[in-house]
Amino acid sequence: MQPYSSARDEFQGEATVFLDANENPYNHPYNRYPDPLQWELKKKIATYKGVNVESIFLGNGSDEPIDLVIRVFCEPTVDNIVSIAPSYGMYEVAAHVNNVEFRKVQLDTNFDVDVDALLQAVNARTKVIFLCSPNNPTGNNLSRERIHRILESFEGIVVVDEAYIDFADTPSFLTELVKFPNQIVLQTFSKAWGAAGVRLGMAFASPEIVKVLNKVKYPYNVNLLTQEYALKLLAEPEKMQAQLRRILSERAWLQERLPQLKCVRKIYPTDANFILAEVTDANAIYNYLVQAGIIVRNRTNVTMCAGCLRITVGTPEENRALITALEGCQ
Ligand code: PMP
Repeated sequence: MQPYSSARDEFQGEATVFLDANENPYNHPYNRYPDPLQWELKKKIATYKGVNVESIFLGNGSDEPIDLVIRVFCEPTVDNIVSIAPSYGMYEVAAHVNNVEFRKVQLDTNFDVDVDALLQAVNARTKVIFLCSPNNPTGNNLSRERIHRILESFEGIVVVDEAYIDFADTPSFLTELVKFPNQIVLQTFSKAWGAAGVRLGMAFASPEIVKVLNKVKYPYNVNLLTQEYALKLLAEPEKMQAQLRRILSERAWLQERLPQLKCVRKIYPTDANFILAEVTDANAIYNYLVQAGIIVRNRTNVTMCAGCLRITVGTPEENRALITALEGCQ
């Protein structure tokens, strides 16, 4: 397949007069199309993450590579995808939008992946397995050894979505990119980097996989404002690290306080920036919190999450407002 060749693809380098892309010559600095392959930004990310620049794909959030992986590797109505349940809802939505069958395998009682059941759900038409670690909405890491078993036993693509990896104290699967050429690791600027609004997601994979994703993406899928903003963030990683430490210490505070509340039955262990809490009456408490101006995510209708609310760790003030409100709902 021939990808669209944009003006900025055909000429790269130094010049003073650009009359090749039908742009408006005025209105600097945003009158020009951005670099379609975001090389400057990718070089910074490569250095920061310790990966080869050719192994990076950047998208409009990590939702873009989720969709692209399905479009690239799956034949609609013929192939299928296997994933865990409960997990991030976009894998299933993107599969259905692309008319690809989506097979869900329930997690075990520790919210870990049941490898035997997962591999049993795989057949000759399974092209992609989606895993999420730390998982959303459960919050926990899947066991590393189990993910290894899947990477070793399945010959198709294994996506490990690490949107929340910065909040975990375990290493990223990026360290094993070279070992598993069928692996795609997803990360994002939406969580620890505090930039959900700018929409920047990262997929890390073998250069062969990245080349295929690049063929299918929109030519200018990551806009210039986003590229500039991400470069600014990467120039000061210590700011992100400081925020991360604050979020982790607030998470610990919530983990201590939430279980003391009468309306909280239990909280689940978390490696992410949110806590899944089983409460006495999820719908009533959700509505009560809405009345108090506090919005959490009601997950009571999600597989294995009956009675559960998913609570994002906020600022100290927000977390204290939440606990005070929940004290009043007993
Ligand atoms: N993966 C997981 C597990 C998520 O929870 C989310 C966002 N909620 C995403 C991916 C999407 O992130 P992005 O903002 O990068 O599209």
